[in-house]
Amino acid sequence: MRRASAFKACRKCRYLVQKKETKCPVCGSENFSDRWRGLVVIIDKDSFVAELLEIPQEGYYAVKVL
Ligand SMILES: [Zn+2]
Repeated sequence: MRRASAFKACRKCRYLVQKKETKCPVCGSENFSDRWRGLVVIIDKDSFVAELLEIPQEGYYAVKVL
């Protein structure tokens, strides 16, 4: 991951995608926010953190979408 500002967060599942993307690959939503805080990397979807944040798939996620 390079500069955080090159990414936007899905409002539905908080998955981070590059700004050129139009659709969230995790939940299919097209609703994104450029304003988000915190970054969590899920490397195992069965981990405690993934369960806590209700994350269904590995990847980069925003902790909070503003
Ligand atoms: Zn999503």
